Amino acid sequence: MRPPVLNPLFASASTLRGIGPKVEKSLAKLVGRPTDRGPAAARIVDLLFHLPTGLIDRSARPTLDSMPEEGIVTVEVTVGRHRPPGARGQRRPYRIECYDETGSLLLVFFHPRSDWLARNLPEGEKRFVSGSVEWYGGLPQMVHPDHIVAREEFARLPLVEPVYPLTADLPPKLLARSIEAALDLVPQLPDWHDERLKRDWPGFAAALLSVHRPRKTSDLEPEAPSRQRLAYDELLANQLALALTRRHLKRASGRRISGSGDRRAKLLAALPYALTGSQTAAIEQVLADMAAGERMLRLLQGDVGSGKTIVALFALVAAVEAGAQGALMVPTDLLARQHHANIAPLAAAAGIDVDLLTGREKGRARSDVLARLRDGRTGILIGTHALFQEGVEFADLGLIVIDEQHRFGVHQRLALQAKSGGNPDLLVMTATPIPRTLALTVYGDMDVSRLTEKPPGRQPIDTRVLPVDRLADVLAGLRRAIDGGARVYWVCPLVADSEALDVAAAEARFGELDKAFPGMVGLVHGRMRGPAKDAVMQRFQAGDIKILVATTVIEVGVDVPEATVMVIDNAERFGLAQLHQLRGRVGRGSTRSACLLLYQGQLGETAKKRLAVLRETDDGFLIAEEDLRLRGSGELLGTRPAGMPTVRLADVAAHGDLIATARDDAQLILARDPDLATPRGAALRLLLYLFERDEAIRLLAAG
Ligand code: ADP
Ligand code: MG
Repeated sequence: MRPPVLNPLFASASTLRGIGPKVEKSLAKLVGRPTDRGPAAARIVDLLFHLPTGLIDRSARPTLDSMPEEGIVTVEVTVGRHRPPGARGQRRPYRIECYDETGSLLLVFFHPRSDWLARNLPEGEKRFVSGSVEWYGGLPQMVHPDHIVAREEFARLPLVEPVYPLTADLPPKLLARSIEAALDLVPQLPDWHDERLKRDWPGFAAALLSVHRPRKTSDLEPEAPSRQRLAYDELLANQLALALTRRHLKRASGRRISGSGDRRAKLLAALPYALTGSQTAAIEQVLADMAAGERMLRLLQGDVGSGKTIVALFALVAAVEAGAQGALMVPTDLLARQHHANIAPLAAAAGIDVDLLTGREKGRARSDVLARLRDGRTGILIGTHALFQEGVEFADLGLIVIDEQHRFGVHQRLALQAKSGGNPDLLVMTATPIPRTLALTVYGDMDVSRLTEKPPGRQPIDTRVLPVDRLADVLAGLRRAIDGGARVYWVCPLVADSEALDVAAAEARFGELDKAFPGMVGLVHGRMRGPAKDAVMQRFQAGDIKILVATTVIEVGVDVPEATVMVIDNAERFGLAQLHQLRGRVGRGSTRSACLLLYQGQLGETAKKRLAVLRETDDGFLIAEEDLRLRGSGELLGTRPAGMPTVRLADVAAHGDLIATARDDAQLILARDPDLATPRGAALRLLLYLFERDEAIRLLAAG
């Protein structure tokens, strides 16, 4: 249970004065996190972790005869004559003449409430006004000053104000006021940092105060001590949670899985190609882990098309060879079916039965699979997360392989491990080429193998970036390609948060293409029923249809070597990594492939640069690094995938070195104080709760 001292931070923002249900809703949209229990809600902690991105400096205090050309100033004036627009001057503003000993200033208001003006700017009184200077007819004026205060209130006028990222329906002053109010609720907490770490960082509470009350622009930079402190807190919580997960998974003692090698030899003989050097190396690492007494927790990272599946198959065959079973879990049933079609014949050559289990296997088919699984006739089971539902029992599960890990979250990984009983070895595979620093924050609990080379004979892919206005040219090009025997993927993006709208966009595109290429076009999307999807895929695979229009369901893993053209609609809406993944669907055969990135409207500078990166390189890691540089980590993977921890205080691009330090720190902490039982350990538990790593603390209790 979360220690009570933190409770005020997890109360709803609506407990703050002046925040009603409507504002709370806007706040939730802006700063809220979806919780286990439901949709996003704005809590005090969410307000506190919403950091300013800029500041308004109103500390310039000129006299009226020395007003600058432009910019924000704060001046003390005597209020002079009010000049209302007059009866017929509805369109003219309300003006108030003000002056000091040196000159004059006109305050200008459009559609003001005159009683408000009379109250706040009474003629003959002195007032401080702060706002942007403009010039009109050679005289300085200020349209709608940001602040008007009397001398007694001057101390309360913020001469430097933070600027926060906003949504349209939330007035900036209201957000700033809410955050200020939230700051009053920050408790003093014992420090979780090692005294010996000796940095010039303030404590947690002081750091929060100072990031929300910046004094100068440099206070906003990632190098500012308060920013560093908070970033480090978040990264340390993350690394500590990962280290605890790893320890928990590893502690469950593994078994030694190793066999004679007969079946692997048969598999190798049945392969129509030779393994690449990095495939062989990865297989060796995996087999060594499996044969060791410790449980395997390994990540296999390799770009699309690098040939991860076969590495997994060797591991699965090794499990069977040792008398156990293996399971391969994938995110979609399309992919499960395809893996099954590819793997079953190879496994058969090694004398192993492979079964398939997804949400679509029902009734008799399902109970047959379950029976074979229970008595051990099934050597390898391939499926979706249906693999780990009620009623699925393995005779002796020795290895779980999870493909396209980025589609599953870390939590699912834990849940799956709990359900699977025993302590099977775990191999997860991902094509997401995340930069090294970021990899630590996502997969810090795993050992890593990498496939760095691609199978030989791959052709480079011609990538072109085009406005969608040139659709006619694109279609003409497609016609030539199809006449030459090509098959084409046409991907439509996830546009809205609504699947229905996305499907509508894909259907519209399908309609257009079908008119241009009658009978040659098929459509698959996430809302179709399984068998209908299969049928379309099969017709595409067999070449009965030439163009496959798809929403991103094809993103992961589909393998049709004859497909040599990839067209992506609204490419500007995808993350670079995702575009790279999609592009990886072509260029698998021996003919030269092309990828057309279509965009809508005008591209901004960053968008142009991003798409250019894709045109210039095919190196997934480089692309990921560039994407990180151009966009920041938050959006690195396009639509944020489940497994991605969302960092709020750290900037993974700028705080990369802190990630590695936090990782070492976390390991040292657990080596010295395995149960977090010392006073510093207790403080670190607070840190974990603060960043909502409650799960990790439960693991601590479980031992
Ligand atoms: P990914 O890493 O994207 O999952 P796959 O395992 O689907 O890649 O492999 C992509 C394609 O490359 C498949 O058609 C596979 O048969 C082929 N392949 C894998 N390894 C080799 C190799 N060493 N030589 C030639 N082709 C290979
Ligand atoms: Mg794959």
